[in-house]
Amino acid sequence: MREKEFDVVIVGSGAGGGAVAAELGPLAATGARVAVLEWGPKVREQEFTGRELEMANRLYFDRGGVLTRDMSMTMAFGKGYGGSTVVYTGTSLTIPPQVVTRWNVPGLEAEDVLARSEKYLRQNNVHLLEEPLLNDNNRLFREGCRRLGWTVEQFPINVKGCLGAGLCNLGCPNAAKQGTNRVQLPAAERQGVQVVTNCKVERIEESACVVTVRNESFGEPSGWEPGEYRVKAKAIVVAAGAVNSPALLLRSRLPVELPALGCYFTAHPALILVAQHERPITNYSGHPKSFYCDQFAHSKRFLLETCMYFPFTTAKSLAGFGADHSRLMSGMDRLQMILALALDDSRAENRVTIDAAGNAVVDYRLSEPVLDALHEAMKASARIFFAAGAARVHAPAGSNFLIEASERHRIDELIPRSGVKPGKVSIVAAHLMGGCRMGTGRGDSVTDSWGRVHGVPGLYVADASLFPACAEINPYVTIMALADRVAEGVRNDLSAPPASRRAE
Ligand SMILES: Cc1cc2nc3c(=O)[nH]c(=O)nc-3n(C[C@H](O)[C@H](O)[C@H](O)COP(=O)(O)OP(=O)(O)OC[C@H]3O[C@@H](n4cnc5c(N)ncnc54)[C@H](O)[C@@H]3O)c2cc1C
Ligand code: SF4
Repeated sequence: MREKEFDVVIVGSGAGGGAVAAELGPLAATGARVAVLEWGPKVREQEFTGRELEMANRLYFDRGGVLTRDMSMTMAFGKGYGGSTVVYTGTSLTIPPQVVTRWNVPGLEAEDVLARSEKYLRQNNVHLLEEPLLNDNNRLFREGCRRLGWTVEQFPINVKGCLGAGLCNLGCPNAAKQGTNRVQLPAAERQGVQVVTNCKVERIEESACVVTVRNESFGEPSGWEPGEYRVKAKAIVVAAGAVNSPALLLRSRLPVELPALGCYFTAHPALILVAQHERPITNYSGHPKSFYCDQFAHSKRFLLETCMYFPFTTAKSLAGFGADHSRLMSGMDRLQMILALALDDSRAENRVTIDAAGNAVVDYRLSEPVLDALHEAMKASARIFFAAGAARVHAPAGSNFLIEASERHRIDELIPRSGVKPGKVSIVAAHLMGGCRMGTGRGDSVTDSWGRVHGVPGLYVADASLFPACAEINPYVTIMALADRVAEGVRNDLSAPPASRRAE
Protein backbone atom coordinates (compact mmCIF):
# COMPACT_ATOMS: atom_id res chain seq x y z
CA MET A 1 0.00 0.00 0.00
CA ARG A 2 1.38 3.39 -0.97
CA GLU A 3 1.59 6.19 1.61
CA LYS A 4 0.71 9.89 1.38
CA GLU A 5 0.75 12.54 4.06
CA PHE A 6 -1.26 15.74 4.46
CA ASP A 7 -2.12 18.20 7.21
CA VAL A 8 -5.85 18.07 6.43
CA VAL A 9 -7.84 15.58 4.41
CA ILE A 10 -11.46 16.32 3.43
CA VAL A 11 -13.59 13.33 2.40
CA GLY A 12 -16.14 14.36 -0.24
CA SER A 13 -16.44 17.48 -2.40
CA GLY A 14 -20.15 18.39 -2.25
CA ALA A 15 -21.84 21.27 -0.42
CA GLY A 16 -20.02 20.52 2.85
CA GLY A 17 -16.65 19.32 1.54
CA GLY A 18 -16.45 22.09 -1.08
CA ALA A 19 -17.09 24.79 1.54
CA VAL A 20 -14.41 23.37 3.87
CA ALA A 21 -11.92 23.12 0.98
CA ALA A 22 -12.39 26.77 0.04
CA GLU A 23 -12.19 27.90 3.66
CA LEU A 24 -8.92 26.02 4.11
CA GLY A 25 -7.53 27.45 0.85
CA PRO A 26 -5.64 30.27 2.61
CA LEU A 27 -4.02 27.65 4.85
CA ALA A 28 -2.88 25.74 1.75
CA ALA A 29 -1.63 28.99 0.22
CA THR A 30 0.70 29.40 3.20
CA GLY A 31 2.15 25.91 2.88
CA ALA A 32 -0.26 23.53 4.65
CA ARG A 33 -0.95 20.32 2.72
CA VAL A 34 -4.70 20.04 2.19
CA ALA A 35 -6.42 17.39 0.05
CA VAL A 36 -10.01 16.60 -0.91
CA LEU A 37 -10.57 12.89 -1.58
CA GLU A 38 -13.66 12.41 -3.77
CA TRP A 39 -15.12 9.01 -4.66
CA GLY A 40 -16.61 10.10 -7.98
CA PRO A 41 -14.97 11.50 -11.12
CA LYS A 42 -14.64 15.02 -12.46
CA VAL A 43 -16.98 14.93 -15.45
CA ARG A 44 -15.57 16.80 -18.46
CA GLU A 45 -17.51 19.81 -19.82
CA GLN A 46 -18.32 17.99 -23.09
CA GLU A 47 -19.68 15.04 -21.10
CA PHE A 48 -22.60 17.11 -19.71
CA THR A 49 -24.93 16.02 -22.49
CA GLY A 50 -28.27 16.57 -20.75
CA ARG A 51 -29.36 13.03 -21.73
CA GLU A 52 -31.32 11.65 -18.80
CA LEU A 53 -30.07 8.09 -18.44
CA GLU A 54 -26.50 8.88 -19.47
CA MET A 55 -26.18 11.73 -16.95
CA ALA A 56 -27.96 9.80 -14.19
CA ASN A 57 -25.26 7.16 -14.60
CA ARG A 58 -22.43 9.68 -14.62
CA LEU A 59 -23.50 11.92 -11.76
CA TYR A 60 -25.45 9.92 -9.18
CA PHE A 61 -25.05 6.93 -6.89
CA ASP A 62 -27.17 4.10 -8.35
CA ARG A 63 -28.36 6.42 -11.12
CA GLY A 64 -30.27 8.51 -8.56
CA GLY A 65 -32.39 5.61 -7.33
CA VAL A 66 -30.76 4.34 -4.13
CA LEU A 67 -33.46 2.36 -2.31
CA THR A 68 -34.15 2.26 1.40
CA ARG A 69 -33.98 -1.23 2.92
CA ASP A 70 -37.76 -1.76 2.73
CA MET A 71 -37.76 -0.33 -0.82
CA SER A 72 -40.49 2.20 0.01
CA MET A 73 -38.41 5.26 -0.96
CA THR A 74 -35.71 6.08 -3.51
CA MET A 75 -32.96 8.52 -2.59
CA ALA A 76 -31.04 10.69 -5.04
CA PHE A 77 -27.56 11.97 -4.23
CA GLY A 78 -24.62 12.94 -6.36
CA LYS A 79 -21.20 11.39 -6.80
CA GLY A 80 -18.28 13.30 -8.27
CA TYR A 81 -16.39 16.59 -8.21
CA GLY A 82 -19.00 18.86 -6.59
CA GLY A 83 -21.15 16.03 -5.17
CA SER A 84 -24.88 16.69 -5.13
CA THR A 85 -24.32 20.36 -5.95
CA VAL A 86 -23.66 19.27 -9.55
CA VAL A 87 -27.21 17.91 -9.76
CA TYR A 88 -29.12 20.15 -7.37
CA THR A 89 -31.56 22.72 -8.70
CA GLY A 90 -29.81 25.60 -6.98
CA THR A 91 -32.71 26.95 -4.92
CA SER A 92 -31.00 28.85 -2.14
CA LEU A 93 -32.94 29.42 1.08
CA THR A 94 -31.62 30.21 4.54
CA ILE A 95 -32.90 28.16 7.44
CA PRO A 96 -35.74 29.64 9.55
CA PRO A 97 -34.08 30.71 12.87
CA GLN A 98 -36.74 28.87 14.88
CA VAL A 99 -35.61 25.56 13.30
CA VAL A 100 -32.05 26.09 14.58
CA THR A 101 -33.51 26.98 17.99
CA ARG A 102 -35.57 23.76 17.97
CA TRP A 103 -32.41 21.77 17.09
CA ASN A 104 -31.24 22.81 20.55
CA VAL A 105 -27.53 22.26 19.99
CA PRO A 106 -25.54 23.97 22.76
CA GLY A 107 -23.16 26.49 21.18
CA LEU A 108 -25.02 26.69 17.86
CA GLU A 109 -26.83 30.00 17.43
CA ALA A 110 -29.26 30.78 14.61
CA GLU A 111 -27.58 34.17 14.19
CA ASP A 112 -24.23 32.55 13.45
CA VAL A 113 -25.73 30.07 10.95
CA LEU A 114 -27.54 32.90 9.16
CA ALA A 115 -24.48 35.17 9.02
CA ARG A 116 -22.45 32.34 7.47
CA SER A 117 -25.32 31.49 5.09
CA GLU A 118 -25.29 35.08 3.80
CA LYS A 119 -21.66 34.61 2.81
CA TYR A 120 -22.60 31.66 0.56
CA LEU A 121 -25.55 33.51 -0.94
CA ARG A 122 -23.01 36.09 -2.08
CA GLN A 123 -20.30 33.64 -3.13
CA ASN A 124 -22.70 31.54 -5.20
CA ASN A 125 -24.44 34.45 -6.94
CA VAL A 126 -27.87 33.87 -5.44
CA HIS A 127 -30.64 36.12 -6.78
CA LEU A 128 -34.24 36.10 -7.98
CA LEU A 129 -34.83 35.30 -11.63
CA GLU A 130 -36.44 38.15 -13.60
CA GLU A 131 -40.15 37.80 -14.41
CA PRO A 132 -39.76 37.27 -18.21
CA LEU A 133 -37.56 34.21 -17.52
CA LEU A 134 -40.26 32.37 -15.53
CA ASN A 135 -41.99 29.63 -17.50
CA ASP A 136 -45.68 28.61 -17.53
CA ASN A 137 -45.14 25.69 -15.19
CA ASN A 138 -43.93 28.10 -12.55
CA ARG A 139 -46.37 30.92 -13.29
CA LEU A 140 -49.32 28.53 -13.13
CA PHE A 141 -48.28 27.38 -9.65
CA ARG A 142 -48.14 30.99 -8.48
CA GLU A 143 -51.49 31.74 -10.07
CA GLY A 144 -53.09 28.66 -8.51
CA CYS A 145 -51.80 29.54 -5.03
CA ARG A 146 -52.90 33.15 -5.33
CA ARG A 147 -56.39 32.17 -6.46
CA LEU A 148 -56.67 29.97 -3.39
CA GLY A 149 -55.38 32.78 -1.18
CA TRP A 150 -52.29 30.77 -0.19
CA THR A 151 -48.85 32.25 0.36
CA VAL A 152 -46.44 31.76 -2.51
CA GLU A 153 -42.82 32.84 -2.53
CA GLN A 154 -40.16 32.99 -5.22
CA PHE A 155 -37.03 30.86 -4.75
CA PRO A 156 -33.72 32.70 -4.97
CA ILE A 157 -31.43 30.62 -7.21
CA ASN A 158 -27.67 30.47 -7.75
CA VAL A 159 -27.13 30.74 -11.48
CA LYS A 160 -24.89 32.90 -13.69
CA GLY A 161 -25.84 33.08 -17.37
CA CYS A 162 -28.69 30.58 -17.10
CA LEU A 163 -30.00 29.69 -20.55
CA GLY A 164 -33.15 28.06 -19.18
CA ALA A 165 -32.23 24.61 -20.42
CA GLY A 166 -34.16 23.07 -17.50
CA LEU A 167 -31.55 20.34 -17.10
CA CYS A 168 -30.23 21.33 -13.67
CA ASN A 169 -30.74 17.86 -12.14
CA LEU A 170 -28.71 16.29 -14.96
CA GLY A 171 -25.76 18.63 -14.44
CA CYS A 172 -26.00 22.04 -16.10
CA PRO A 173 -24.59 21.74 -19.64
CA ASN A 174 -24.14 25.53 -19.77
CA ALA A 175 -21.90 25.92 -16.72
CA ALA A 176 -24.52 28.30 -15.29
CA LYS A 177 -25.37 26.71 -11.97
CA GLN A 178 -23.00 27.80 -9.21
CA GLY A 179 -22.34 24.57 -7.31
CA THR A 180 -19.12 23.85 -5.45
CA ASN A 181 -17.77 22.41 -8.72
CA ARG A 182 -17.93 25.95 -10.19
CA VAL A 183 -17.13 28.12 -7.16
CA GLN A 184 -15.53 26.67 -4.03
CA LEU A 185 -13.47 23.78 -5.45
CA PRO A 186 -11.76 25.79 -8.22
CA ALA A 187 -11.08 28.56 -5.67
CA ALA A 188 -9.55 26.02 -3.29
CA GLU A 189 -7.42 24.50 -6.07
CA ARG A 190 -6.13 27.92 -7.06
CA GLN A 191 -4.84 28.27 -3.49
CA GLY A 192 -3.07 24.93 -3.53
CA VAL A 193 -5.69 22.47 -2.24
CA GLN A 194 -5.34 19.15 -4.07
CA VAL A 195 -8.62 17.57 -5.22
CA VAL A 196 -8.19 13.86 -5.91
CA THR A 197 -11.13 12.33 -7.78
CA ASN A 198 -12.01 8.65 -8.35
CA CYS A 199 -10.72 8.16 -4.82
CA LYS A 200 -12.96 6.25 -2.44
CA VAL A 201 -12.20 6.42 1.26
CA GLU A 202 -12.73 2.86 2.46
CA ARG A 203 -12.20 3.48 6.15
CA ILE A 204 -10.55 5.75 8.66
CA GLU A 205 -7.88 4.41 10.94
CA GLU A 206 -5.90 6.30 13.54
CA SER A 207 -5.07 9.68 11.89
CA ALA A 208 -5.25 8.13 8.41
CA CYS A 209 -7.65 7.21 5.62
CA VAL A 210 -7.35 3.98 3.68
CA VAL A 211 -8.39 4.74 0.10
CA THR A 212 -8.79 3.07 -3.27
CA VAL A 213 -8.24 4.95 -6.53
CA ARG A 214 -10.09 3.48 -9.52
CA ASN A 215 -10.79 5.38 -12.75
CA GLU A 216 -14.13 5.36 -14.56
CA SER A 217 -14.72 5.08 -18.29
CA PHE A 218 -15.78 8.77 -18.29
CA GLY A 219 -14.51 11.92 -16.61
CA GLU A 220 -10.95 12.99 -16.03
CA PRO A 221 -8.60 10.32 -14.67
CA SER A 222 -7.64 10.69 -11.04
CA GLY A 223 -4.49 12.68 -10.28
CA TRP A 224 -3.22 9.59 -8.43
CA GLU A 225 -2.30 6.23 -9.96
CA PRO A 226 -4.98 3.55 -9.46
CA GLY A 227 -4.38 1.42 -6.37
CA GLU A 228 -4.59 1.46 -2.59
CA TYR A 229 -3.17 4.19 -0.39
CA ARG A 230 -2.83 4.99 3.26
CA VAL A 231 -3.27 8.76 3.58
CA LYS A 232 -2.11 10.20 6.88
CA ALA A 233 -3.48 13.52 8.15
CA LYS A 234 -3.49 15.58 11.33
CA ALA A 235 -7.14 16.45 10.73
CA ILE A 236 -9.74 14.41 8.80
CA VAL A 237 -12.98 16.14 7.82
CA VAL A 238 -15.71 13.74 6.74
CA ALA A 239 -18.13 15.35 4.26
CA ALA A 240 -19.36 12.32 2.33
CA GLY A 241 -23.08 13.17 2.66
CA ALA A 242 -25.83 11.98 5.00
CA VAL A 243 -25.75 8.39 3.72
CA ASN A 244 -22.04 7.88 3.21
CA SER A 245 -20.57 9.80 6.16
CA PRO A 246 -22.27 7.64 8.82
CA ALA A 247 -21.48 4.54 6.74
CA LEU A 248 -17.80 5.48 6.51
CA LEU A 249 -17.55 6.09 10.26
CA LEU A 250 -19.43 2.85 10.99
CA ARG A 251 -16.92 0.81 9.01
CA SER A 252 -13.92 2.63 10.51
CA ARG A 253 -12.15 1.59 13.65
CA LEU A 254 -13.06 4.47 15.93
CA PRO A 255 -11.63 4.32 19.44
CA VAL A 256 -15.00 5.21 21.07
CA GLU A 257 -18.56 3.88 21.07
CA LEU A 258 -20.97 6.31 19.41
CA PRO A 259 -24.48 4.89 19.90
CA ALA A 260 -26.12 7.73 17.94
CA LEU A 261 -23.96 7.15 14.85
CA GLY A 262 -26.21 6.57 11.82
CA CYS A 263 -29.39 7.39 13.79
CA TYR A 264 -31.91 10.23 13.33
CA PHE A 265 -31.75 10.17 9.52
CA THR A 266 -34.34 12.44 7.88
CA ALA A 267 -35.10 12.92 4.19
CA HIS A 268 -38.06 15.22 3.41
CA PRO A 269 -39.87 12.31 1.67
CA ALA A 270 -41.51 13.69 -1.46
CA LEU A 271 -44.06 13.04 -4.20
CA ILE A 272 -43.74 14.20 -7.79
CA LEU A 273 -47.28 15.21 -8.76
CA VAL A 274 -48.57 16.11 -12.23
CA ALA A 275 -51.64 17.56 -13.89
CA GLN A 276 -52.53 17.98 -17.54
CA HIS A 277 -53.62 21.17 -19.27
CA GLU A 278 -55.59 21.25 -22.53
CA ARG A 279 -52.95 23.42 -24.20
CA PRO A 280 -49.18 23.14 -24.37
CA ILE A 281 -47.45 25.07 -21.57
CA THR A 282 -43.78 25.98 -21.30
CA ASN A 283 -42.40 23.53 -18.81
CA TYR A 284 -39.16 22.15 -20.27
CA SER A 285 -37.58 25.44 -21.19
CA GLY A 286 -36.83 27.82 -18.37
CA HIS A 287 -35.39 27.24 -14.94
CA PRO A 288 -37.47 24.43 -13.39
CA LYS A 289 -37.97 25.69 -9.85
CA SER A 290 -39.14 29.22 -9.16
CA PHE A 291 -41.84 29.12 -6.46
CA TYR A 292 -42.80 27.44 -3.22
CA CYS A 293 -45.71 27.46 -0.83
CA ASP A 294 -44.96 26.98 2.87
CA GLN A 295 -48.47 27.86 4.06
CA PHE A 296 -48.86 24.38 5.59
CA ALA A 297 -45.32 23.79 6.88
CA HIS A 298 -46.31 24.32 10.48
CA SER A 299 -49.91 23.04 10.57
CA LYS A 300 -49.69 20.04 8.25
CA ARG A 301 -45.94 19.49 7.94
CA PHE A 302 -45.50 19.75 4.19
CA LEU A 303 -44.03 22.12 1.60
CA LEU A 304 -44.98 22.48 -2.05
CA GLU A 305 -42.47 23.48 -4.73
CA THR A 306 -42.57 23.79 -8.47
CA CYS A 307 -40.48 21.22 -10.34
CA MET A 308 -40.08 19.71 -13.79
CA TYR A 309 -38.59 16.27 -14.22
CA PHE A 310 -37.46 14.30 -17.22
CA PRO A 311 -39.37 11.53 -19.02
CA PHE A 312 -37.97 8.52 -17.14
CA THR A 313 -38.30 10.11 -13.69
CA THR A 314 -41.80 11.34 -14.52
CA ALA A 315 -42.96 8.01 -15.90
CA LYS A 316 -41.84 6.11 -12.81
CA SER A 317 -43.61 8.62 -10.55
CA LEU A 318 -47.00 8.07 -12.18
CA ALA A 319 -49.24 5.37 -10.78
CA GLY A 320 -51.05 3.02 -13.15
CA PHE A 321 -50.19 1.40 -16.45
CA GLY A 322 -51.35 1.25 -20.05
CA ALA A 323 -53.46 3.77 -21.91
CA ASP A 324 -53.91 6.41 -19.16
CA HIS A 325 -50.19 6.37 -18.31
CA SER A 326 -49.25 6.51 -21.97
CA ARG A 327 -51.67 9.41 -22.66
CA LEU A 328 -50.16 11.47 -19.86
CA MET A 329 -46.61 10.75 -20.94
CA SER A 330 -47.22 11.46 -24.61
CA GLY A 331 -48.66 14.86 -23.67
CA MET A 332 -45.66 15.94 -21.59
CA ASP A 333 -45.68 19.40 -23.14
CA ARG A 334 -49.04 19.93 -21.37
CA LEU A 335 -47.95 18.73 -17.92
CA GLN A 336 -47.68 20.94 -14.86
CA MET A 337 -45.66 19.52 -11.93
CA ILE A 338 -45.43 20.05 -8.19
CA LEU A 339 -43.00 18.49 -5.72
CA ALA A 340 -44.68 17.85 -2.35
CA LEU A 341 -42.25 17.35 0.54
CA ALA A 342 -43.11 16.03 3.99
CA LEU A 343 -41.24 17.51 6.96
CA ASP A 344 -40.28 14.33 8.76
CA ASP A 345 -39.49 14.02 12.47
CA SER A 346 -36.05 12.76 13.43
CA ARG A 347 -36.37 9.30 14.95
CA ALA A 348 -33.55 7.15 16.31
CA GLU A 349 -34.85 4.10 14.43
CA ASN A 350 -34.51 5.80 11.03
CA ARG A 351 -30.86 5.15 10.53
CA VAL A 352 -27.93 4.43 8.26
CA THR A 353 -26.33 1.06 8.89
CA ILE A 354 -23.82 -1.00 6.90
CA ASP A 355 -24.04 -4.45 5.36
CA ALA A 356 -21.40 -7.18 5.73
CA ALA A 357 -19.31 -5.59 2.96
CA GLY A 358 -19.45 -2.18 4.69
CA ASN A 359 -21.85 -0.60 2.18
CA ALA A 360 -24.46 1.88 3.39
CA VAL A 361 -27.98 0.58 4.01
CA VAL A 362 -30.70 3.05 4.97
CA ASP A 363 -33.41 1.81 7.32
CA TYR A 364 -36.17 4.36 6.92
CA ARG A 365 -39.79 3.72 7.82
CA LEU A 366 -42.40 6.05 6.36
CA SER A 367 -44.23 6.97 9.56
CA GLU A 368 -47.97 7.65 9.83
CA PRO A 369 -47.37 11.43 10.31
CA VAL A 370 -45.29 11.46 7.09
CA LEU A 371 -47.99 9.61 5.17
CA ASP A 372 -50.61 12.00 6.64
CA ALA A 373 -48.53 14.96 5.46
CA LEU A 374 -48.13 13.50 1.96
CA HIS A 375 -51.87 12.86 1.79
CA GLU A 376 -52.65 16.48 2.73
CA ALA A 377 -49.99 17.66 0.26
CA MET A 378 -51.52 15.60 -2.55
CA LYS A 379 -54.94 17.17 -1.96
CA ALA A 380 -53.49 20.69 -1.68
CA SER A 381 -51.56 20.19 -4.93
CA ALA A 382 -54.72 19.01 -6.70
CA ARG A 383 -56.42 22.25 -5.58
CA ILE A 384 -53.53 24.34 -6.93
CA PHE A 385 -53.56 22.46 -10.26
CA PHE A 386 -57.28 23.00 -10.75
CA ALA A 387 -57.09 26.64 -9.59
CA ALA A 388 -54.41 27.07 -12.29
CA GLY A 389 -56.75 25.70 -14.95
CA ALA A 390 -55.64 22.06 -15.30
CA ALA A 391 -58.03 19.76 -17.16
CA ARG A 392 -57.18 16.70 -15.08
CA VAL A 393 -55.00 15.84 -12.13
CA HIS A 394 -53.04 12.66 -11.66
CA ALA A 395 -53.58 11.46 -8.08
CA PRO A 396 -51.42 8.40 -7.35
CA ALA A 397 -53.38 7.71 -4.14
CA GLY A 398 -56.77 8.29 -5.75
CA SER A 399 -59.49 5.70 -6.23
CA ASN A 400 -59.09 6.65 -9.91
CA PHE A 401 -55.64 7.84 -10.86
CA LEU A 402 -57.10 10.71 -12.88
CA ILE A 403 -59.45 13.34 -11.48
CA GLU A 404 -61.25 15.45 -14.10
CA ALA A 405 -61.83 19.18 -13.63
CA SER A 406 -65.57 18.49 -13.37
CA GLU A 407 -64.82 16.44 -10.22
CA ARG A 408 -62.67 19.09 -8.55
CA HIS A 409 -65.18 19.63 -5.73
CA ARG A 410 -64.79 15.99 -4.66
CA ILE A 411 -61.02 16.04 -4.03
CA ASP A 412 -61.32 14.95 -0.38
CA GLU A 413 -63.42 11.97 -1.37
CA LEU A 414 -61.41 11.04 -4.47
CA ILE A 415 -58.03 11.12 -2.71
CA PRO A 416 -58.57 8.95 0.36
CA ARG A 417 -55.91 8.66 3.07
CA SER A 418 -56.09 4.87 2.66
CA GLY A 419 -54.49 5.24 -0.80
CA VAL A 420 -51.29 6.77 0.59
CA LYS A 421 -49.34 3.62 1.35
CA PRO A 422 -45.68 2.71 1.04
CA GLY A 423 -45.28 0.79 -2.20
CA LYS A 424 -48.44 2.20 -3.76
CA VAL A 425 -47.18 5.73 -4.30
CA SER A 426 -43.70 6.47 -5.58
CA ILE A 427 -41.80 8.34 -2.85
CA VAL A 428 -38.49 10.03 -3.55
CA ALA A 429 -35.99 11.95 -1.42
CA ALA A 430 -33.17 14.34 -2.29
CA HIS A 431 -32.73 16.25 0.98
CA LEU A 432 -30.87 13.66 3.02
CA MET A 433 -29.94 14.78 6.53
CA GLY A 434 -28.72 13.48 9.89
CA GLY A 435 -26.82 10.36 10.90
CA CYS A 436 -23.90 12.23 12.54
CA ARG A 437 -26.01 14.74 14.42
CA MET A 438 -24.53 17.58 16.45
CA GLY A 439 -25.33 17.70 20.15
CA THR A 440 -23.94 17.61 23.65
CA GLY A 441 -22.45 14.20 24.23
CA ARG A 442 -21.99 10.65 23.00
CA GLY A 443 -25.34 9.54 24.39
CA ASP A 444 -27.43 11.33 21.81
CA SER A 445 -25.09 12.78 19.21
CA VAL A 446 -21.93 12.20 17.20
CA THR A 447 -20.30 15.64 17.13
CA ASP A 448 -20.28 18.90 19.05
CA SER A 449 -21.57 22.12 17.49
CA TRP A 450 -18.27 22.55 15.59
CA GLY A 451 -18.48 19.14 13.93
CA ARG A 452 -15.80 17.60 16.18
CA VAL A 453 -16.51 13.90 16.63
CA HIS A 454 -16.91 13.18 20.35
CA GLY A 455 -13.86 11.47 21.78
CA VAL A 456 -11.81 11.36 18.57
CA PRO A 457 -9.43 14.35 18.38
CA GLY A 458 -8.63 15.35 14.79
CA LEU A 459 -11.83 13.85 13.33
CA TYR A 460 -14.62 16.15 12.11
CA VAL A 461 -17.90 15.94 10.17
CA ALA A 462 -18.96 18.77 7.85
CA ASP A 463 -22.04 17.94 5.80
CA ALA A 464 -25.79 17.31 5.91
CA SER A 465 -25.31 14.44 8.33
CA LEU A 466 -24.72 17.03 11.10
CA PHE A 467 -28.40 18.10 11.10
CA PRO A 468 -30.02 17.02 14.39
CA ALA A 469 -33.44 17.12 12.69
CA CYS A 470 -34.70 18.06 9.25
CA ALA A 471 -34.06 21.57 7.91
CA GLU A 472 -37.69 22.24 6.88
CA ILE A 473 -36.33 23.99 3.79
CA ASN A 474 -33.99 23.12 0.90
CA PRO A 475 -30.80 22.48 2.83
CA TYR A 476 -27.65 23.24 0.83
CA VAL A 477 -27.01 26.79 2.08
CA THR A 478 -27.28 25.62 5.69
CA ILE A 479 -24.91 22.72 5.00
CA MET A 480 -22.35 25.19 3.67
CA ALA A 481 -22.85 27.46 6.69
CA LEU A 482 -22.25 24.56 9.09
CA ALA A 483 -19.23 23.41 7.06
CA ASP A 484 -17.88 26.96 7.30
CA ARG A 485 -18.00 26.64 11.11
CA VAL A 486 -16.25 23.28 10.96
CA ALA A 487 -13.45 24.77 8.82
CA GLU A 488 -13.01 27.56 11.35
CA GLY A 489 -12.76 24.97 14.13
CA VAL A 490 -10.18 22.96 12.17
CA ARG A 491 -8.08 26.09 11.63
CA ASN A 492 -8.25 26.96 15.31
CA ASP A 493 -7.45 23.42 16.44
CA LEU A 494 -4.47 23.17 14.08
CA SER A 495 -3.02 26.46 15.25
CA ALA A 496 -3.43 25.60 18.95
CA PRO A 497 -0.32 24.25 20.70
CA PRO A 498 -0.59 20.40 20.80
CA ALA A 499 -0.91 20.25 24.59
CA SER A 500 -4.01 22.47 24.57
CA ARG A 501 -5.78 20.55 21.78
CA ARG A 502 -9.10 19.18 22.87
CA ALA A 503 -9.20 15.51 23.79
CA GLU A 504 -12.63 14.75 25.20
C1 LIG B 1 -31.66 16.22 -7.66
C2 LIG B 1 -31.35 17.06 -6.46
C3 LIG B 1 -31.81 18.36 -6.40
C4 LIG B 1 -31.55 19.14 -5.27
N1 LIG B 1 -31.92 20.45 -5.26
C5 LIG B 1 -31.61 21.23 -4.20
C6 LIG B 1 -31.91 22.62 -4.21
O1 LIG B 1 -32.42 23.16 -5.19
N2 LIG B 1 -31.60 23.35 -3.11
C7 LIG B 1 -31.02 22.78 -2.00
O2 LIG B 1 -30.80 23.49 -1.00
N3 LIG B 1 -30.69 21.48 -1.98
C8 LIG B 1 -30.96 20.69 -3.06
N4 LIG B 1 -30.59 19.38 -3.07
C9 LIG B 1 -29.91 18.83 -1.87
C10 LIG B 1 -28.45 19.24 -1.83
O3 LIG B 1 -27.84 19.07 -3.08
C11 LIG B 1 -27.74 18.36 -0.79
O4 LIG B 1 -28.45 18.48 0.43
C12 LIG B 1 -26.29 18.77 -0.54
O5 LIG B 1 -25.54 18.83 -1.72
C13 LIG B 1 -25.67 17.75 0.41
O6 LIG B 1 -24.36 18.17 0.72
P1 LIG B 1 -23.35 17.17 1.40
O7 LIG B 1 -22.05 17.83 1.48
O8 LIG B 1 -23.98 16.64 2.64
O9 LIG B 1 -23.26 15.91 0.41
P2 LIG B 1 -23.03 15.82 -1.16
O10 LIG B 1 -23.18 17.16 -1.80
O11 LIG B 1 -23.88 14.72 -1.64
O12 LIG B 1 -21.48 15.43 -1.29
C14 LIG B 1 -20.97 14.23 -0.77
C15 LIG B 1 -19.77 13.82 -1.63
O13 LIG B 1 -19.02 12.83 -0.93
C16 LIG B 1 -18.58 11.84 -1.86
N5 LIG B 1 -18.33 10.61 -1.12
C17 LIG B 1 -19.25 9.79 -0.54
N6 LIG B 1 -18.64 8.76 0.08
C18 LIG B 1 -17.31 8.92 -0.11
C19 LIG B 1 -16.17 8.17 0.26
N7 LIG B 1 -16.28 7.05 0.98
N8 LIG B 1 -14.96 8.59 -0.16
C20 LIG B 1 -14.83 9.73 -0.88
N9 LIG B 1 -15.89 10.50 -1.25
C21 LIG B 1 -17.11 10.09 -0.88
C22 LIG B 1 -19.73 11.73 -2.84
O14 LIG B 1 -19.29 11.17 -4.06
C23 LIG B 1 -20.16 13.18 -2.97
O15 LIG B 1 -19.48 13.82 -4.01
C24 LIG B 1 -30.82 18.58 -4.18
C25 LIG B 1 -30.33 17.28 -4.26
C26 LIG B 1 -30.58 16.52 -5.40
C27 LIG B 1 -30.04 15.12 -5.47
S1 SF4 C 1 -31.94 25.94 -16.29
FE1 SF4 C 1 -30.11 27.20 -16.17
S2 SF4 C 1 -28.96 26.31 -14.49
FE2 SF4 C 1 -30.48 24.79 -15.06
S3 SF4 C 1 -29.46 23.51 -16.54
FE3 SF4 C 1 -30.44 25.13 -17.71
S4 SF4 C 1 -28.90 26.71 -17.97
FE4 SF4 C 1 -28.22 25.34 -16.34
